[in-house]
Amino acid sequence: MLLEPFNAEELGADSPINPYRITLINTLYDACKGQRALWILCFACGHAARVSPTWLVGKFGDRTLTELRYYIRCRRCRERWGVIIPEDHPSSDWPRR
Ligand SMILES: [Zn+2]
Repeated sequence: MLLEPFNAEELGADSPINPYRITLINTLYDACKGQRALWILCFACGHAARVSPTWLVGKFGDRTLTELRYYIRCRRCRERWGVIIPEDHPSSDWPRR
């Protein structure tokens, strides 16, 4: 479930709270809605890839990030031992994949 972002005006300009912060990105749909690119980190070889959640939805459907770990292989070493981490800010520069 994706919670709404904080209202920047209510927080005030000096607030240390990031108005774009959301509490939990559980699914690819949440990442799309929050405009978060995803980093896929491989524990086997250390490879990291920044991917678009919309590209992943097109390929795998709307999955939780935990489920997705079982579908994704590392591009470099082909292992499935990795983790998926959403970026902490909304992004306008979507990676192609
Ligand atoms: Zn790897």
